[in-house]
Amino acid sequence: MILDPLLSPIDILGLTRDEFLDRALAFGAKRPRALAIYRAAFRDGVALEPWVTLRRPPIVNSHVEGNTIKFVQRHDDGLETESVLIPMFGRAGQMTRTLCVSSQIGCAMGCRFCETAQMGLMRNLDAAAIVAQWFGATHDVGERPKNIVFMGMGEPMDNLDSVLQALRVLCDHDGAAMAASNIAVSTVGRVDGIRRYGDFVRQRGFHRANLAVSLNAPNDEIRGSIMPINRKHGMAELREAMLSFPLRPKAAICVEYVLIPGVNDALDHCDELCAYLKGIRCSLNVIPYNPRRDSPWRAPTEDEVSAFMARAIENGQFVKRRQTKGRSVMGACGQLGNPHIRRRKFVDLGVPGRDSGHATQTDRAAPGCNDEHGGDSCR
Ligand code: SAH
Repeated sequence: MILDPLLSPIDILGLTRDEFLDRALAFGAKRPRALAIYRAAFRDGVALEPWVTLRRPPIVNSHVEGNTIKFVQRHDDGLETESVLIPMFGRAGQMTRTLCVSSQIGCAMGCRFCETAQMGLMRNLDAAAIVAQWFGATHDVGERPKNIVFMGMGEPMDNLDSVLQALRVLCDHDGAAMAASNIAVSTVGRVDGIRRYGDFVRQRGFHRANLAVSLNAPNDEIRGSIMPINRKHGMAELREAMLSFPLRPKAAICVEYVLIPGVNDALDHCDELCAYLKGIRCSLNVIPYNPRRDSPWRAPTEDEVSAFMARAIENGQFVKRRQTKGRSVMGACGQLGNPHIRRRKFVDLGVPGRDSGHATQTDRAAPGCNDEHGGDSCR
């Protein structure tokens, strides 16, 4: 079957069916056989021919808290990706899992409350490495996720080409066959990225892919003090981008709000937030702050969370609470990251920042969450 021994094996995880077929035909495979190989790779986790590889980073560590599983994949360069499988319970009590994937190793966004931000950005993941997290969960851990949320390490809009290619692969009917409606991409609020993602979502097959936005503050002053990105894209601009995002009937943007005591949890903040959200079709997802390492802030109490949510409801805002899962294994929202790895990088915000003339130093930013992590809770 192998016609040309000089061709290196086809690394299948980053490819859609059609991309794979093109290459497989070059190896001399017949179309039906190539199709069977593609299906077997994604559905059964097996490589049927020696000229195909399912190359993925091995899982070197996993942590379990209740039904929540955090697993770590180690790449050839020694860097690690963290992903979390979070249990979700349906109305009838049946359990499904949401997989929270990383789009980068580390993150350059510098959000003050986030553990991943402490690492800085190490590097981007390519589409195959993103899909490898789904593959690892499904075939190595043995838990096929129903939902995928891009709420692990990294800012998806900073690595959007790879994220979009990963979505194409994950939604391929002959492969992973995820439903676009069960996928959510979460952003720190990069307006350029929201627009591009919106264009992608307008394409056939992706209409129901979801957007989540980490708002985390009721006004520019507070947002700017905890999220450096706000100095580039202020909240007015962000609001415009959310309003122009293509939403199917009944769909809603998931607006994430990490509730941090003493920072953004006052009832006045809630009123201001709800006024800002008026007119945007959204679900407000309140995430109790999970203290990162060396955090200057504590977690909110139950009463504080309830009071904030009750106020949002009084304001007529649809609101959900994200249950905290995985905190003890540092797998909850905003807790992913290897504390031994630190890199300081600069984010060019393109505007004069307060900290420096042009660039803002970042050694912190985004990750890990969902109902936990968005999934079902966000639509
Ligand atoms: N960079 C993207 C994807 C990461 S998602 C984004 O910002 O949306 C990570 C989610 O967890 C974000 O909503 C973020 O606001 C939230 N988060 C970050 N740190 C957190 C923490 N310490 N406690 C609770 N949520 C946190």
